Amino acid sequence: MLSSRVNNNSCRRNFVFYFFCSLLCGSLFATKLSSNEYDGYEYYTYRNSIELRVQNFGQAVKLFDWLDKITLTESGEKLIDSIVNSSYSLLIHHSRSAYISAGVTGADISDNLINGVGASAYIKFFLDMDDRGSHCVLAMNGRDYIEYTALQNLYHELVHAKHKMRGSWLYFDSEGQAIREENVFRQEWAKYRFQKAPVLRYDESDDNPLILNQNGRCIPLT
Ligand SMILES: [Zn+2]
Repeated sequence: MLSSRVNNNSCRRNFVFYFFCSLLCGSLFATKLSSNEYDGYEYYTYRNSIELRVQNFGQAVKLFDWLDKITLTESGEKLIDSIVNSSYSLLIHHSRSAYISAGVTGADISDNLINGVGASAYIKFFLDMDDRGSHCVLAMNGRDYIEYTALQNLYHELVHAKHKMRGSWLYFDSEGQAIREENVFRQEWAKYRFQKAPVLRYDESDDNPLILNQNGRCIPLT
């Protein structure tokens, strides 16, 4: 009897905490885990599975918002489901170093990334970028540079992570693999927003990324 009351109370407490965190974060899938006074980071989970490590609450809110928006599309919902239902963990964490390349996805290198077994992965993401993103990428025509919003950037990194976690990573064409799926998202997102068909991204590795300056112009990274 006592234990059931304790459990009920603790359930209620958890629910109330979860509810308010969701309210504050603006996401029904967000839960705050802890603040670690030793390393100075805050930890959250998304859908009780994807671990987020951020420097402050503002970064967490931004990330929850981008993840929620990704799931508004069919491909995004499948992508997040595939990650959440994998046997491995994903950590997304803020990193200043990711500013240079927009985002970086990694995992321990082994055959498991390509043989269907999979492995845990991480995404380093520059969470201080705004919604416009921090970079520009090459358009399908191989000549013009187009937007690479924070949403598209995060989606792209999540595709890398999914394939590493599922063991379906294409070692020799990992960029092409991520860009082709990113292009599907670009189309679905435009449709969702009732926007005209978007210019798609060139599906080969872009060796010369341009950054987006404060005036919204694509300029070489110096
Ligand atoms: Zn990539």
